[in-house]
Amino acid sequence: MLSFTHKSQAYPAKRNPADRAGDFQEISPSFLLAKAEEQASRCSQCGVPFCQVHCPLQNHIPDWLKLAAEGRLREAYELSNSTSTMPEICGRICPQDRLCEGNCVIEQSGHGSVTIGSVEKFITDTAWKEGWVEPLTPVADRSTQSVGIIGAGPAGLTAAELLRVRGYDVHVYDRHDRAGGLLTYGIPGFKLEKPIVTRRVERLQAGGIHFHLGVEIGGSGEGDLSFDTLRQRHQAILIATGVYKPRPLGLDGSGHRGVVKALDYLIASNRKGFGDAVPAFDSGALSAEGRNVVVIGGGDTAMDCVRTAVRQGAASVTCMYRRDRANMPGSAREVANAEEEGVVFEWLAGPTAFTADSEGHVRQVQAARMRLGLPDASGRRAPEPDPGQEFTLPADLVIEALGFDPEDLQSAFQAPDLAVTRWGTVRAENQRLSTSIPGVFAAGDIVRGASLVVWAIREGRDVAAAMHAWLKSEAAQQGAAAPLSGAVETGRSAERELA
Ligand SMILES: Cc1cc2nc3c(=O)[nH]c(=O)nc-3n(C[C@H](O)[C@H](O)[C@H](O)COP(=O)(O)OP(=O)(O)OC[C@H]3O[C@@H](n4cnc5c(N)ncnc54)[C@H](O)[C@@H]3O)c2cc1C
Ligand code: SF4
Repeated sequence: MLSFTHKSQAYPAKRNPADRAGDFQEISPSFLLAKAEEQASRCSQCGVPFCQVHCPLQNHIPDWLKLAAEGRLREAYELSNSTSTMPEICGRICPQDRLCEGNCVIEQSGHGSVTIGSVEKFITDTAWKEGWVEPLTPVADRSTQSVGIIGAGPAGLTAAELLRVRGYDVHVYDRHDRAGGLLTYGIPGFKLEKPIVTRRVERLQAGGIHFHLGVEIGGSGEGDLSFDTLRQRHQAILIATGVYKPRPLGLDGSGHRGVVKALDYLIASNRKGFGDAVPAFDSGALSAEGRNVVVIGGGDTAMDCVRTAVRQGAASVTCMYRRDRANMPGSAREVANAEEEGVVFEWLAGPTAFTADSEGHVRQVQAARMRLGLPDASGRRAPEPDPGQEFTLPADLVIEALGFDPEDLQSAFQAPDLAVTRWGTVRAENQRLSTSIPGVFAAGDIVRGASLVVWAIREGRDVAAAMHAWLKSEAAQQGAAAPLSGAVETGRSAERELA
């Protein structure tokens, strides 16, 4: 360990931009074994590991780095897997520069952080390859108690796994036809290839978790179910529905053909990747091919849109953001990737209107230059128009990527007693993630607002523990618990904890 003094920081090499812009595969392959061991050995094994403190899962990072450096990869995997249900996914898409790697002590001392995410990805990819990822093994039989989980995103899937391992009868409902939430239909393949998500879902299915896909809770379509029906079916409910209401731009011309919402665009692209029939893509309504594309926004969703447009063969791709580069919410790493792939950034610029041709199809974005004023309530400097600095951009596809708010769950679920915050997120009690309705819990973006996959996993983990405690106390009152003593007596501390 401590080899950072003579070994330089290295990330897996990126494919060259011209090649990667032609497909939806990830832009970097995994480390090779020797490189992973070398990079792991740069860890300084700090007494107080700030990487771990700043990882939302509090992963045992220095410990699995040491095991990886020593070639003890199976042990490294088991340790990494003990705190995370999806280490290889976090290794790929966490904004490490703001979390573990950004707080690595050797980064602070100017040596360049340990490349934690890439090593994490390598360890669990190796575990899948070597067959070390084991099937789910329930430590008790609590199948007389069933749990209904609304939403098959990372929060719902994590809770489903950890509740199934504790022995419950677990049912996951999702309005989409595939599980994974934004891992499947939001985040593009060049950040997270879809088979990585699919194999996780298949493991959960094989482990006895029941998936009810294409079922919207509170929806009015055939096969949809009401929230009340779900409550009658299951002893406990988890709401893990994410946030999906796009923030509107509401400008003159926002209704023109060719002005589309980011998630509609990304879902269509991801569906095409799965080989689905997507009429709106084939008609050109949600395709960037040959178009001058302008994406409005500066977050990760905007970055995913611009890079998707490049891969679809857009004539030009511009990202318009009202603050400057230093103040944008998206990851700096993603901006660099987008620039390498040919995306043009218009910093300090905001649209004022969209103009259309005689057939009502957008052809131009009218915009104004902005400048940064005084800090707003969040401490960030608020943008304001710089008078006399108007300009126009040609555009025949405009993608609005301004973030997401929660849907109105009280109405959709016909549950006026479900307490929500003033932002519309579900009000969940801090530690237990329980809502105002007994036996109903909530986790993930629907509690935090639009956030990160790693936080959804963390809340899925916490809520599973909270639901287990609640279900155990219910069972104790009704005499329904039936632990399988043989399974619990294996002596593994994790299993004792789960029981
Ligand atoms: C384009 C995009 C890119 C992103 N990139 C990153 C990234 O690189 N790194 C990162 O860490 N985070 C990223 N995020 C954020 C991350 O994806 C989310 O924070 C995370 O997925 C939230 O997990 P969740 O389980 O709470 O919700 P979701 O993943 O949104 O899953 C919720 C699920 O609930 C289902 N659902 C909703 N309502 C109902 C209903 N009434 N009935 C049945 N099912 C329902 C939905 O269909 C969905 O499958 C990105 C987000 C977007 C939009
Ligand atoms: S889960 Fe995310 S923050 Fe935690 S160690 Fe992995 S990459 Fe870093």
